[in-house]
Amino acid sequence: MSMLNSKPSLGLYIHIPFCRSKCDYCDFCSFVPNSGGIVEHYTDALILQMEDWSDKCRGYRVDSVYLGGGTPTFLDSRHLGRILNALYDNFSIPRSAEISVECNPATDDFKKLRKLKRAGVNRLSIGLQSANENELRALGRIHTYRQFEETYDNARRAGFENISVDVMYGIPDQTEKSFAHTLSAVTSLAPDHISLYALKIEDGTPFASRRDTLNLPDDDSVYSMYVNAVKYLAARGYERYEISNFAKRGQACLHNLKYWHCDEYLGLGASAHSYFKGERFSTTRNIRDYIDGLEIIDSDIDIVASRDSVGSDESMDEYVMLGMRLEEGVNIRDFEGRFGVSFAEKYGHLLDEYVEDGFVIADGESYRFSTSGMFVSNYILSSVLNLGSNG
Ligand code: SF4
Repeated sequence: MSMLNSKPSLGLYIHIPFCRSKCDYCDFCSFVPNSGGIVEHYTDALILQMEDWSDKCRGYRVDSVYLGGGTPTFLDSRHLGRILNALYDNFSIPRSAEISVECNPATDDFKKLRKLKRAGVNRLSIGLQSANENELRALGRIHTYRQFEETYDNARRAGFENISVDVMYGIPDQTEKSFAHTLSAVTSLAPDHISLYALKIEDGTPFASRRDTLNLPDDDSVYSMYVNAVKYLAARGYERYEISNFAKRGQACLHNLKYWHCDEYLGLGASAHSYFKGERFSTTRNIRDYIDGLEIIDSDIDIVASRDSVGSDESMDEYVMLGMRLEEGVNIRDFEGRFGVSFAEKYGHLLDEYVEDGFVIADGESYRFSTSGMFVSNYILSSVLNLGSNG
């Protein structure tokens, strides 16, 4: 075994908080910059933050990098190149690492994608959401379906062999039929991975302020969309490995699996979250504070927005909350090996009623959600985990 392989592994998340225009449902930390200067400063600050962390991560092998946003491909090739070079300079990233970049159609072109590929990026996650123009408009997306197809085509020509496509259901003006059309259009392109998210109306978004006027599909239709999508995708070789994520065999996203397995990751950039050496912490969402806190040598701005060391009850709750999102669920022996506590005593009895109702499957080795259970997983987990931590 080489020295590199014997090091513990680490995921790196890099947040790029810029978009060309803001979608009506979005509450991510992203904004439309009014000048190129802020992008330059943000890139400088990101690189300074990498340098700050470089030594602390020396003992780690970074086996996944994820540039998310916002829209990373909003940046031009020069900024993206600087960020990627700084990553290689400051962290131990083997050639085998999974390096993903989120991409919004209408912010990329063939040249940019080819440069990303040459710079070591080997996975592209393209935000489509819908193949129907009226739904794209209703979401406030800036691209057409045709532009998505061009991006997809460019990505394949640029050499990307691992492409994921984001699709949404439960969106305004969507019907079961129009959603089926989106799934059919997307799967006909044969991406390697599909993420399927339900629309959530987040406070503070334009959608929240006109919630009552949105033409949303009813709950039964939304449920049917999810259940039918799971069957449809399975029949086309996409295995569900997490509530919202489906992949061809061997193409599950290594980086996202780290979150659900409670493995260590470091988040860099505004609003990024980390789980590192037993602590969870996050960076400020305020871009100006983030830049000034890093760039101004004697600044007293603390870019850390929150920091918690994770106690054992919280660790167990988190492990169950995240692990239950996975198709494989929580393995009882893995849980007991990790925490030295009986899963049955801590959580099993609280899950019994959901096992009886068919929402949870318990086979003696693991606890996992059925498809109907996945659809209501938030409700089940919040009831079980609150009781679990009090019990
Ligand atoms: S492209 Fe993504 S990050 Fe940007 S506004 Fe739309 S949903 Fe939000």
